[in-house]
Amino acid sequence: MPKFPHGQVEVPAPQGEIRGVWLHDPRGVNWDVVMRDLRSAGMNSIFVKFSTGGAAYYRSSVLPASTLAGRDEPALCLAAARRHGIHVHAWHVCFQMKDAPLDWQNRAIREGRVQLGSSGQTYRPSYNVPHLCPTHDVNREMEKRAMVELATKYPFAGVQLDHIRWSDAGLCYCATCKRTFARDAAVRLRSWPRDVQKGGPLEPAFAGWRERIITSLAQEITSAVRAANRTMKISSCVFPDLNAVRRDKGQNWKEWVDRGWIDFLCPMNYSTDPSRFTQWIAADRGWVNGRVPVVVGIGAYKMTSGQQLREQLALARRAGANGWILFNYDDNFRAKLLPALRQ
Ligand SMILES: [Zn+2]
Repeated sequence: MPKFPHGQVEVPAPQGEIRGVWLHDPRGVNWDVVMRDLRSAGMNSIFVKFSTGGAAYYRSSVLPASTLAGRDEPALCLAAARRHGIHVHAWHVCFQMKDAPLDWQNRAIREGRVQLGSSGQTYRPSYNVPHLCPTHDVNREMEKRAMVELATKYPFAGVQLDHIRWSDAGLCYCATCKRTFARDAAVRLRSWPRDVQKGGPLEPAFAGWRERIITSLAQEITSAVRAANRTMKISSCVFPDLNAVRRDKGQNWKEWVDRGWIDFLCPMNYSTDPSRFTQWIAADRGWVNGRVPVVVGIGAYKMTSGQQLREQLALARRAGANGWILFNYDDNFRAKLLPALRQ
């Protein structure tokens, strides 16, 4: 058993360990090369982004398609995966309208379905695209249908929900949120958005309401997926610090676990600091309390060497993780990290 400079020892894999990687953009990928890479590194799973809040990388009846030369990427991916014995999970990023056609984005803005900042500006936290508002019924229905489509159109091993949360602290200040919050909390708003902002009289009520919006959506989506396909595994990517993410993003993933809505949890523990990394795993395992496997997301993109990655994988096993998913499969991963996994 190899020893590492910091004294960790490589430990045997637990039974059923998920050893996976995320892949961001499936358009035009050489799937045979990818699957061969994974198998050569002793990995068994891949989590491929097949849709966002505004685009599907396949022919979809819910979202606009963004495909390359008419290729059916999920079918090609699954065929190659089968040849190499790799499980494919379809990863969906909720709300974020990456690769959505501009007219699709503008229509959502026009219809008041995007998250707005406190001065009414369209919030664009990543890729310079709007993020759909989780409160709006049209958006909720679309996210649900997009996940059900993924769970029924192709024989994936699982579907993965990502970004079920508010895009940032405080959001959202759109008209639907204003109206729905006032109705649900049975309050009269005197000064919007001041009443619900930091120090405002309704700040705690707004925080609780924001969490309920996300929790109810997680329930709606997962129960629709279960009803459509009972054998489909459901996982979710979440932030590791439960209290912080509840407060800032309304994401109470412990409740999703406790109520049996997801089959395994993927906390994105993207830290190269060994003690922080293991503390997060310990805390997450404590919250999960053995109800579902904890498959940790590892920030491989932050690592400078394959040796460092191997050390972190050993740490994950020692801390009791049930598996890991590396972020993410790209040229850097292939050149710098993959060779170390093959050893
Ligand atoms: Zn809103």
